[in-house]
Amino acid sequence: MTVAVDGPAGTGKSTVSRGLARALRARYLDTGAMYRIAALAVLRAGVDPADAEAVAAVAATADITVGAEADADRFYLAGEDVSDVIRGGEVTAAVSAVSSVPSVRERLVALQRQLAAGPEAIVVEGRDIGTVVLPDAPCKVFLTASAETRARRRNDQNIAAGLADDYPGVLADVRRRDHLDATRSTSPMRPAEDAVIVDTSDMTQTQVIEHLLDLVDQANGVRR
Ligand code: C5P
Repeated sequence: MTVAVDGPAGTGKSTVSRGLARALRARYLDTGAMYRIAALAVLRAGVDPADAEAVAAVAATADITVGAEADADRFYLAGEDVSDVIRGGEVTAAVSAVSSVPSVRERLVALQRQLAAGPEAIVVEGRDIGTVVLPDAPCKVFLTASAETRARRRNDQNIAAGLADDYPGVLADVRRRDHLDATRSTSPMRPAEDAVIVDTSDMTQTQVIEHLLDLVDQANGVRR
């Protein structure tokens, strides 16, 4: 069973995907982390993230390692554990530009397909998993929530992590990233035609996981 979980930032996608993988005893792959590592490689090379040609050159050879086993949460650039730094503001600000470069996507999509291959169940989360990376996935989910809800959640996380309380700034960033991700010409973010759209605005993460477990059961039933 392959489960594709797509959707924008702030829908609870990562927590829910990890929880779902745990409940299914499945492997788990965070594709956003891979784009974040590529963005970090670009920044460390001193390249402007808006310079598509230079970005493509750096990303073509960046040594990106991610785990896809259950509970994998360590990410490496050239052997260095960069799991924390890829969540920081600098990488977050650069990642949409880096992920919009077609050759970056080609390389990472190929890597994602390799990591997701195999007989074991896997939950793969991202933006284009159901549409581009794994279009044959039997269970596809697209999580949504209003921009305000997503910004509030992200701001609460920031405060809990000791960062500044800045709801207007976070809301502006959520909208900026939504726009970039939805309008880029290569693999714009959109639900697959056969994805189930789940609005998480008024749901707890536990409720979302339970709902997704039902959808996985349904997908299994339909295929049996
Ligand atoms: O999910 P996360 O916020 O970590 O993703 C970071 C960025 O990586 C997204 O804003 C998007 O630009 C890019 N991304 C993507 N395709 C994916 C996963 C992430 O373009 N499958």
